Amino acid sequence: MQIKFLGTGGAFEPTYGNSAAIIEFQGKNLLLDAGFTVYPKLVELNLWQQLDYILLTHLHNDHCGSLANILLHCVFHGQGKRPVILYQTEDFKQQIVDFLNFQLKDATLYTEFKPFTELTGLIYLDTYGRHSIEFQTYSFILEENGKRLVYSGDLGDSKFLFDYLGTLPELATTVYHDVSFNPENKGHAFYTALRPYQNKYPIFGYHCDPTQQPADNTIPLVYQQPGLCYSY
Ligand SMILES: [Zn+2]
Ligand SMILES: [Zn+2]
Repeated sequence: MQIKFLGTGGAFEPTYGNSAAIIEFQGKNLLLDAGFTVYPKLVELNLWQQLDYILLTHLHNDHCGSLANILLHCVFHGQGKRPVILYQTEDFKQQIVDFLNFQLKDATLYTEFKPFTELTGLIYLDTYGRHSIEFQTYSFILEENGKRLVYSGDLGDSKFLFDYLGTLPELATTVYHDVSFNPENKGHAFYTALRPYQNKYPIFGYHCDPTQQPADNTIPLVYQQPGLCYSY
């Protein structure tokens, strides 16, 4: 299980790319999120044809803004092969379809939908309303070969995620969590809120501008880990 980030910035930090990653899981390549900087990055790195599945944490533009383009590119340049979107629930699948149909008229011509249960060891945590009021969001948890990888998505209420992790069987766990350095920003985990969990899990922060981190930040940033992200 290998994760590599295509971008580690927030919605307003295109310099660092929208937060998104490719995870090698069970011999397949999973694209986590498809924000507006992701399509050009996939083309630049020539990675688009290696994608087996696309997963979305939520439908904010920095997480799905180039999804339609990615699908079109794959179908037009990949011998008509439609990328597979793994969906968490029927409701969320319908939200994705509605979103895509504005741009594609009939999304099913360009993508195939399969449920999350397609892959064993892939779990989602419903984080509805915990990033943005009355807005559907999810965290992802992937387990393979005695290891667990946690991807928070956008989540202000990190306690909710860590409480849930505490109910799971012990497993070598690494957490990738969005992080904010602005206490006014309630949509993401403030860096000091993640600190108490660092003695239990290795935690890496993303969805931020690394130049804004305060001197007392203890959360290592994905952006600063060689090997964890494609260069930006
Ligand atoms: Zn975001
Ligand atoms: Zn968001």
